[in-house]
Amino acid sequence: MNKILIAEDEAPIANLLQTALSNAGYQCVWAADGMSAADLLERQPFDLALLDIMLPRADGYELLAYCQTLEVPVIFLTAKGEVEDRVRGLRLGAEDYITKPFELMELLARVETVLRRCGKTDRILVLPPDIELDTASRIVRRNGQPVALTAKEYDLLLLFLQNKNIALYRDRIYERVWGETFLGDSRTVDLHIQRMRKKLGLENRLVAVYKVGYRLEV
Ligand code: CA
Repeated sequence: MNKILIAEDEAPIANLLQTALSNAGYQCVWAADGMSAADLLERQPFDLALLDIMLPRADGYELLAYCQTLEVPVIFLTAKGEVEDRVRGLRLGAEDYITKPFELMELLARVETVLRRCGKTDRILVLPPDIELDTASRIVRRNGQPVALTAKEYDLLLLFLQNKNIALYRDRIYERVWGETFLGDSRTVDLHIQRMRKKLGLENRLVAVYKVGYRLEV
């Protein structure tokens, strides 16, 4: 399980981050100011740090420098419009940034990408009790037996495994898996999801959400 430090002084945002990341299977530790964050970083290993820039008692930039000495990758949390902060953060070596207010799906995608890029991600994603997905070999197994999925079905399963218990909108699913703008035809998404769901016996776990899309219930 990947462990993530959240350094954020606004409690509502920190709570939102913690809830979303915990639901997605990450272990989170919250620090409400820069010095507490540095203390935590010193005492325990983290796979990733989400750093707000404006923090009391040591700001995000100072923490970034500290994270670099510990080889902990950093994603900055920036308020909307703070372009200079983003540029400065990336120049100094942050892996990415997330603009507040953020969408949970975007947050999780960026976290996952940075963890993978930094070689910190779990290679095998598991959906108990029977499904596992190996991101290195792109093989999906059910009860230990490989299941033949199409490329799109694999990408869909990966997306849901990375967003457990979150209702995903059809248009966002389409944009993530097909990489194109959604033009309003949901049949493509529905067809591929239904076939993937049947192959893996997920009919009762990957559920349709009325007027939204789908949610993988764990
Ligand atoms: Ca702040």
